[in-house]
Amino acid sequence: MNMLVDNYNRTFPYLRLSITEVCNFSCSYCLPNGYQKDHEKSFLRQDEIMRLVNAFVELGVWKIRITGGEPTIRKDFTEIAKMIGEKSEITKLAFTTNGYKLREKAAEWRDAGLNAINISIDSMNAKKFHDITGHDRMQEVREGIEKALEVGFEDVKINVVLLKGVNDDELDAYLEYVKDTPVSVRYIELMQTGDNLTYFNKYHQSADYVKDQLIDRGWVENIRQIGAGPAVNFTHPDYKGSIGLIAPYSKDFCTGCNRLRITSTGDLRLCLFGNVGIPLRHMLQSDDQKDDLKAAISKQLDYKASSHFLQDGNTGIMTNLSSTGG
Ligand code: SAM
Ligand code: SF4
Repeated sequence: MNMLVDNYNRTFPYLRLSITEVCNFSCSYCLPNGYQKDHEKSFLRQDEIMRLVNAFVELGVWKIRITGGEPTIRKDFTEIAKMIGEKSEITKLAFTTNGYKLREKAAEWRDAGLNAINISIDSMNAKKFHDITGHDRMQEVREGIEKALEVGFEDVKINVVLLKGVNDDELDAYLEYVKDTPVSVRYIELMQTGDNLTYFNKYHQSADYVKDQLIDRGWVENIRQIGAGPAVNFTHPDYKGSIGLIAPYSKDFCTGCNRLRITSTGDLRLCLFGNVGIPLRHMLQSDDQKDDLKAAISKQLDYKASSHFLQDGNTGIMTNLSSTGG
């Protein structure tokens, strides 16, 4: 079996595929003014997506996360999931969502073949949730999470972007939530992007702030599994769920990198914070381009850098996470 390998011996079985930049929320750290349509963009079509997926499968990819923007905003989201889900080589088919319509659509999406889901919920307090996202939907999103569990998503994760003075006092509320709910709450350290420097300086909080409180409360850091993602996981025997910390500014964050990204217009991004997007779309126009496409992707791995150098303020060409695919 082919496998994508870079110069640092990292392998890439995992693809994050953005299918749109559009989003209906206006999260303060991502799209504070909502999605702005500056000019008409055409996002990858279904046939282009499948050519990409077919090539990546032949290069050893077995996990795909569909993301955006808000991926579920696309009218053909379920169809896209179904097409990818039909590929038996893709054993993990995940998506990341703000939870909009999850309550109504969880069963449909599970039936389409999606088996893992990350839902963003930055506050357990309805007013704060509204302030952060621009939407008064905390309760609805929580009901969506219940529904996702009920219809059999195997892997349910909750994403929380840690914000100083905004939600960094809410650990106990999340702990209460995971007491009886078998989900993994993952605190993500706020990342600097091209658009959010002032915001970043004001609200960045280190993941250690949460880590110290977890340890004080008797939570234990799990031994990292080989091939595990970037989260450091904590568990406690009295709780059904777990807490993860994603600290992109920590030393060695990039050593375990196992993912590549495709933007919604078909550029390959070797790193979320990379300086180049490698256009692949022109190689997605007919099935007989597959070998060229595979060769182009493999070749690019030679240029994948060892680290994102985010700690030096390098944000690459990424303006916000909705444009690159979070
Ligand atoms: N719209 C979906 C959502 O919000 O879950 C998927 C796309 S969103 C860009 C993916 C994840 O990136 C979300 O969990 C979001 O909170 C996170 N995110 C966005 N901007 C971020 C930033 N500057 N730093 C850290 N996480 C960020
Ligand atoms: Fe939309 Fe997700 Fe960005 Fe929030 S984080 S504005 S939901 S893309």
